[in-house]
Amino acid sequence: MVSGEFELIRRYFSDLGYDQSGSVRLAVGDDCAVIAPPANRDLVLSIDTMVEGVHFLAGTSGDKVASRLFGAALSDLAAMAATPAFFTLALTLPSTDSIWLQAFSVRLAELARQYGVQLIGGDTTRGPLTLSIQVHGWTHPGKALLRSGARPGDRIFVTGTLGDSKGGLETQLKNIHGAQVPYLQHRFYTPEPRIDTALLIAEYATAAIDVSDGLLADLNHILEASNVGAMINPDELPISAELHQWVGAAQSREWALTGGEDFELCFTVPAILEPKLSWALRDHRVGVTCIGQISAKPGILFSEGGRVWPVEPQGYNHFINKHKV
Ligand code: ADP
Ligand code: MG
Repeated sequence: MVSGEFELIRRYFSDLGYDQSGSVRLAVGDDCAVIAPPANRDLVLSIDTMVEGVHFLAGTSGDKVASRLFGAALSDLAAMAATPAFFTLALTLPSTDSIWLQAFSVRLAELARQYGVQLIGGDTTRGPLTLSIQVHGWTHPGKALLRSGARPGDRIFVTGTLGDSKGGLETQLKNIHGAQVPYLQHRFYTPEPRIDTALLIAEYATAAIDVSDGLLADLNHILEASNVGAMINPDELPISAELHQWVGAAQSREWALTGGEDFELCFTVPAILEPKLSWALRDHRVGVTCIGQISAKPGILFSEGGRVWPVEPQGYNHFINKHKV
């Protein structure tokens, strides 16, 4: 890689994205990037890694890997109600495949411009295809939305629809063709970080997380951090028409609960603030659905048709499920 490394960085990664934050003094090219942090902001940061064969199928095109990696990384900033500012990119590549790299960098640049973030640096090495993005964002001091703030009585909400990403993956593994496939695969490859929704709800929310391992597993992180429990009405789970049409009610419900990688937000809001939340979201293009409420007793209960029963928070765990895809 050494001989081509600088040319590769110059060609594909030297001028990528847009610095909406106005804080980038120096981006790609020197030993470090230089940032002038705005006065009176907290820096919020997170890193995400994707490995070929684990997070995406071997042979996936560069544009799809870019949108999946970028969406997953920015989703963590959404979960904290942070405004995205800039990011770094660590690339491990088996070879310099210019078609793949071109598709990857063009798509990454499109998304980075769309979300107002600039690529400020990174690292490039040779090896099995592995990509990491570290995102950085700002919040007002002490205003990052944590997992630990949920209180008994709070309503539990989710954005968008759940289970589509798992559906999109399954259509590929099973080589399914049909009317719903493009939508489901789009949801798998292009998770939409819910930044604008997060900034709208931040004023009312007590806790939030993005759904990466599956709703039950991620909600359970809020519950444990907040030392509370939850009562969920599985009938209320938002499921897309496409997923329902493809696999029916029972399977789509299971994937909505445990599928993961939807990168929707799950958040809690005090019941008394629900009218204000509805008003704030009145013209918002992303659906927000109440699926239950926080209770004092730890654990998750389902409540449906007058019946109440406990459930285990299952989800994806890298050390139990060896392969994700
Ligand atoms: P050093 O050897 O000093 O760590 P590198 O040779 O790794 O520097 O990188 C040279 C410059 O290119 C640095 O500014 C670095 O941040 C940037 N860079 C390297 N790889 C990438 C990448 N994949 N994306 C963006 N910038 C990168
Ligand atoms: Mg280096």
